[in-house]
Amino acid sequence: MAENNVMTKITDNLLKVYDYAFLEGATYGFYKPNDAMYVGVRMTEKQYNCPGCGKSFRVKIRNDNDGILYFSKSRIAEQKKIYDELDMDFPADWELMEKPYTYQLSGYCADCAAEKLLASEEWGQRINNLCHELYLQDMLVSDKAKQYMTDAVERWLSGIESADELTRFDLANPEILQELIWIMVLSDTEACEKALQEYRDRVQPILYELKELLEQATPAWKAYVARSSSLPESMSDGEYHEYTLAFPADDTVGQDFYFRKNVEKSRVEMFVSQHRIASIQELLADAGFQEKWIDMVMDKANELLK
Ligand SMILES: [Zn+2]
Repeated sequence: MAENNVMTKITDNLLKVYDYAFLEGATYGFYKPNDAMYVGVRMTEKQYNCPGCGKSFRVKIRNDNDGILYFSKSRIAEQKKIYDELDMDFPADWELMEKPYTYQLSGYCADCAAEKLLASEEWGQRINNLCHELYLQDMLVSDKAKQYMTDAVERWLSGIESADELTRFDLANPEILQELIWIMVLSDTEACEKALQEYRDRVQPILYELKELLEQATPAWKAYVARSSSLPESMSDGEYHEYTLAFPADDTVGQDFYFRKNVEKSRVEMFVSQHRIASIQELLADAGFQEKWIDMVMDKANELLK
């Protein structure tokens, strides 16, 4: 089990490939933006506008780089279009650098998405929805395992009545202590096995339907993708770097909004065909050893030695 720290975790890999397929279109660049390609904007907030219910929702932007963010010219053109649709006046060129700018987005709120998008039978939207559900299940099984493994450590410790049941091991040796805890976790995996079975039962029909839909899918399509308001967003379509990334203020509440995006079949196929957690060994290794278990054992030993 010691090798579980060096190998790439299955869920970390799935998270990266999901982002690549559905969220991040731009690639990372290192240079300072030039005037020919970018426009400096004093952006202070974002406003999400839901076309379904008409509600709007504001997010404050962190004040990095003296409050100036660099927009690609295509993004400025897109903003002008959205301002137009919202029947608002787009600021004059000189105002962009000088006056606080509100970045406008048009995206369905979670309530409207549940009603209009998640029940969609349209194949492109259905693929996106199924992939999102798959992604949530991938993350959920690992989170459950982390909790159930901690429960197993707790169960083991609650059955210990005398200090020497622990102190007969060399608790000062981190390797021995870690080994001991792993043995206990591995001897109490019933809850994790049940979670893995539930995960399989949820995921298998999703994968089956996705394969069928992808066989008939075109190389690219447009459909809505959920994106959280707490994620940073690049103001450039081509690439992103520190001058284009708008970071929401630290106290931003993460709320999903749904945006129409271009999706590439090859990227989606890559996400769908990734290796997923398939055995109890993989699940336990993926959830991994938790440092807090060591504290739990030491606390118990100290309590019994009092
Ligand atoms: Zn809405």
